[in-house]
Amino acid sequence: MSTSWIDFRALREKVSLLDVLRHYGVEVKIRGDQATGLCPLPRHPPRTDGRPRTASLSVNLARNIFKCFGCQARGNTIDYVCYSEGLDPADPQHVRQAAMKMTGWFDVSADGPIDRPATPIAKPRCVNTTASRVGQAKGEDARPLQQHLNPPTEPNQEESDVLVNPPLGFTLQDLDPSHPYLASRGFTPETLEHFGLGYCARGMLKGRIAIPLHDAGSLIGYAGRLTDDQMISDECPKYLLPGRRKRDGVTIDFRKSRFLYNGHRITEAVDDLAVCEGFPAVWWLHQAGYRAVSLMGSDCSTEQADLLIRAVTPDGRVWVFTDADPAGNDCATRILTLVGQSRFVRRVKIPHGQPTDYPPDELARWLWHR
Ligand SMILES: [Zn+2]
Repeated sequence: MSTSWIDFRALREKVSLLDVLRHYGVEVKIRGDQATGLCPLPRHPPRTDGRPRTASLSVNLARNIFKCFGCQARGNTIDYVCYSEGLDPADPQHVRQAAMKMTGWFDVSADGPIDRPATPIAKPRCVNTTASRVGQAKGEDARPLQQHLNPPTEPNQEESDVLVNPPLGFTLQDLDPSHPYLASRGFTPETLEHFGLGYCARGMLKGRIAIPLHDAGSLIGYAGRLTDDQMISDECPKYLLPGRRKRDGVTIDFRKSRFLYNGHRITEAVDDLAVCEGFPAVWWLHQAGYRAVSLMGSDCSTEQADLLIRAVTPDGRVWVFTDADPAGNDCATRILTLVGQSRFVRRVKIPHGQPTDYPPDELARWLWHR
C-alpha cells in the first residue's frame, strides 16, 4: 500500500458494482439491470423478531449505484466498499482508503475492462456470486464470508422490520398527459413525458395528476396533484403522497425526507443545481433548460442536505429557488445552514410568488448560464 495516486476514473470505469458484490460473496438476484439481495452491510440493523429477512438491497447494474431500503446506505461502487469496510463515504480520506483496497483487489491498471466472467443480464435468474469470488479478488480481503453476511453490528434507531422507500413493483397505466390541467400551465408534451406525468382517472389517485417518484434508480411511488383546486380540504390535500402500508407482511414506509425529487437523474456530481420546494418548479426549470430538484415541501432534512452536497461538485453551486413567502424564506435559510458549509449556495430571491410564475427569460437573469 505505498501508491498514493489513485485513478478514480479508471476504478469507476473498470470495476463494476457487481464485481465488488462478487468480491464480497454477496448473493443477489438479477433481473434485467436490477439486482436485489439481503443487505450484508455492517451498519444494517439485525432483525430481532425471528422472521426471515427481506431483500432490502437494490442495485442498479447499469448505473452502478445501490441503495438499501432497510439501513438507507446508498451510493456508488466506492461508497459500497466504504460501508463494507466500516469506512465513512463522506470522508475523503476514507474514500481514498476504500479506493486503495479496490485497486489491490482488481487489476485496474490493465488496458480495457478488468477480466471478469461474461454476465449477460437479460433473463431473471439467481446468481450465487460466491462461486466467482476466487480469481476476482487478489486475496487482500481474508475475512470469512460469514463475517460479511452476519457482521457484528450495533442496532441503530432504524426499525429493523420497516422498509423505507423500496421499489414500488408496478407502474400506473393509462395516465393521460393531455389533461388540460397540465397544458394550461404551459408544460410541453416533452416535459410531461420526461417526468412521466398524466391524469389518473381511477384508484387512489383518481382526479389527480400522477407524479412518479424515483429514488436510487427505482420507481418508489406516486404523488398526486389534485386538478380541481376547489376540492382541496383537510381530508383532500392538494398533494397526496404515498403512506405507510403493509406488503407481504412487511411494513413499507414512504419518507420524502430521504430523497430529492428528480435527484435520481444525477449520477455524477454537477456544477450547478437548483433546489425548489415544489414539483412544478422542477418541471418549469427543466423546460427552461435548468437542472433542478425538489424537496417536496418547505423542509430540508439533513439527508436531503447530504444528497444536495453529493449532487454538486466541490467547486459547484447550489441555487436555492424557493417561494417568496415565509415558508420559502425559512426553507432557504435551512438549506444555507446545512449545505453552505460544504458547497457554495446562492439564493435566487424572487420578488413574489413561486418559480413557475416567471417566464424563461426572467429565469435566465437569475440563474446560471446554460
Ligand atoms: Zn442495509
